Amino acid sequence: IRAVREGETEVLVPVHLEDVSFPPSQAPVFYNPAMELNRDISVAATAAFVKELSARRNMALSDITYVDALSASGIRGLRIANETGIHATLNDWSEDAYQLIRQNIGHLGLEDRVEATRRNANVLLHENRYNIVDIDPFGTPAPFLAAAARSAVHLLEVTATDTAPLCGAHLHSGIRKYSAVPFNNEYHSEMGVRILLGKITRELSVNDRAMSPLLSHATRHYVRTYLKIDKGAKRTDSMLEQLGYIAHCPSCGSRQAFSGIALFIPKECTRCSSERILAGPLWLGSLHQPEFCNMVLNEIENRNLGTKEQARKLIELCRDELDVPMFYDQHIICKRIGVSPSEIEGFLTALRDRGFAASRTHFSGTSFKTDADIGKIEDILFSLR
Ligand code: SAM
Repeated sequence: IRAVREGETEVLVPVHLEDVSFPPSQAPVFYNPAMELNRDISVAATAAFVKELSARRNMALSDITYVDALSASGIRGLRIANETGIHATLNDWSEDAYQLIRQNIGHLGLEDRVEATRRNANVLLHENRYNIVDIDPFGTPAPFLAAAARSAVHLLEVTATDTAPLCGAHLHSGIRKYSAVPFNNEYHSEMGVRILLGKITRELSVNDRAMSPLLSHATRHYVRTYLKIDKGAKRTDSMLEQLGYIAHCPSCGSRQAFSGIALFIPKECTRCSSERILAGPLWLGSLHQPEFCNMVLNEIENRNLGTKEQARKLIELCRDELDVPMFYDQHIICKRIGVSPSEIEGFLTALRDRGFAASRTHFSGTSFKTDADIGKIEDILFSLR
């Protein structure tokens, strides 16, 4: 056991597992230092959400309940409890993890606000309701989504590290886990976010519950999303209207979104008549709420976070991202049409000067979003030569 400090919290974790055990999922208790950015943003996003929730509902912070259903060392939930002031339940079915969590609660003196449980996460979530449910598993969150969708009353936070199935690189695994068909091309990272959100949407709708994404990001090898939960059949029906499909033409790069679940989608590209590929059902709605991103940025500024700079940059990009599916990659378009790429800001200005909305994205440095279609984008790239 050794102590590590993340944010304002010192947590006991197993000895340098990076050295003694690889992959870390084989270690007796899991701890991945590379997820500090994910946890820093979780602390800031949860703090922003609970401030608003406690003010709106007139609730004391310590009455707001959070569960980290798959806790391992407990570091995520311990940080949330310690750094935001809410109540936390830290669950893991492994005896080693459970004992370490208990030790950590004592180490931080959080016995009055933090509880350790040793249950199957799905049983715990089916039996209890929490204001905030956090699912941070090895790989896919899919086996936990039905229970999480019943348990979460106000906020659902989900990590997925199975990016290959989500993004279409492992197609059949993606179809099995997410009951949807992804495809793998230049915007595979956004594909992963939208396939995951589509699956969560369908799990929530079974319970007449709706979600609206407050913040979602694809970072390195994982996707993380924060979803505000509402109940009611009407809200659920309007959420479902934001499910649909993307038809993509691999030949000319044009893409078209179709809302709805049971649809006829013509295979022929409307621009060049080549055969298009289809992905879905997936989430076509927004990925972020700019006001919420501003609240998270405010928390990041006022906190002691190890990844502050990186977190700030990422959330600013999310806030300013045009909220339409799917991003374009300038280099890929330029390669296809045989022109050299332009400096991204100059190119975005050229799009805006011609009356289109345009932004960078958090997905990659060469990507952008715009409401211009591929033909207009190509015209502008030719004009910048
Ligand atoms: N949230 C942790 C963090 O931020 O460091 C990492 C959690 S780790 C990726 C996943 C944990 O889930 C493991 O400790 C494993 O024992 C636990 N686990 C897997 N399936 C479970 C289940 N069905 N019920 C309870 N715990 C489970």
